[in-house]
Amino acid sequence: NKQVILKNYVNGPPKESDMSLKTSTINLKIPDGCNDAVLVKNLYLSCDPYMLGRMKKIEGHYTDAFAIGSPMVGYGVSRVLESSHPNYKKGDLIWGFTGWEEYTLVTDPSTSFKIHDKDVPLSYYTGLLGMAGMTAYAGFFEVCSPKKGETVFISAASGAVGQLVGQFAKLMGCYVVGSAGSKDKVDLLKNKFGFDDAFNYKEERNYNAALKRYFPYGIDIYFENVGGKMLEAVLNNMRVHGRIAVCGMISQYNLEHPEGVHNLSALISKRIRMEGFLVLDYYHLYPKFLEMVMPHIKKGKITYVEDMADGLESAPAALVGLFSGRNVGKQVVVVAKE
Ligand code: NDP
Repeated sequence: NKQVILKNYVNGPPKESDMSLKTSTINLKIPDGCNDAVLVKNLYLSCDPYMLGRMKKIEGHYTDAFAIGSPMVGYGVSRVLESSHPNYKKGDLIWGFTGWEEYTLVTDPSTSFKIHDKDVPLSYYTGLLGMAGMTAYAGFFEVCSPKKGETVFISAASGAVGQLVGQFAKLMGCYVVGSAGSKDKVDLLKNKFGFDDAFNYKEERNYNAALKRYFPYGIDIYFENVGGKMLEAVLNNMRVHGRIAVCGMISQYNLEHPEGVHNLSALISKRIRMEGFLVLDYYHLYPKFLEMVMPHIKKGKITYVEDMADGLESAPAALVGLFSGRNVGKQVVVVAKE
């Protein structure tokens, strides 16, 4: 059983060398007495920025740190090889938490979702139809309270979550602009995901001026993925009664001293609602989300770009790449094809 293990807790930016590959033997049977478990073959693994939090020892973090020397854990799509759980049987496809390895004994599959609709690429259940999709859906529709005609700004807009938020906002009839870190990503936003406009934040010296250019009358909704100086510039450009959904602050995760935001008083003068959220609190909406999104995917009204890394060997580099913007779209690791 090939595995990606955490070698040491991460200090500062994550490096490939914080992880290593290991091969161990595994008995492809559920051990006697291990009830309510499933033994799975992992097909696709999801690389997610939050995993960095589990690679560090952080007091009071909302998830536990990974164990050193054990396989990393993340979202993935897997096939059930054997089950001692009444809800799963051999051959079922599921998505949920699994190990970064070829085969995993999932001892608590109750948090996994069974995959019923297989008319779409299975890898979508690591992103569009998995955690990232739910994050975009809950963050935009539940937290932002969008209305037709409003102006929406999304940072890290071409990523797993951002590309969907933009498409949801377009479906709602909003004016949508995104920022991303390369020309290719900006092209994707404008030409593939249907954003009204987009800019490369790495080429803008003055975020404030850039936002004024794209939003001369201000921003109603900001879907926050990066934090720091971008947030500060957005606050200057928000409209009265605007909403900010704080999904992530990836520009801050690796800083020893996170940057301060100096103009939070804009929240008062502009009566802005700024709300952090965790997708974990919204999984009860998953059936409603599927009902809404599936027809759009099948009619080609929602599209999704994935960045496929081949083989478990490529998983450490793929994960680390999220923090330098190497991924174009949702970062997936292909462990096995069915
Ligand atoms: P992405 O697919 O967007 O990948 C991360 C992207 O972030 C990179 O491609 C890069 O794009 C951008 N980035 C990396 N470093 C920086 C930086 N220093 N400054 C600005 N941008 C940077 O990831 P996800 O879509 O999976 O996640 C997006 C955000 O949502 C993250 O902040 C994540 O933590 C958060 N999140 C929150 C959840 C919740 O429940 N609240 C759940 C899931 C995700 P670029 O080239 O454009 O810079």
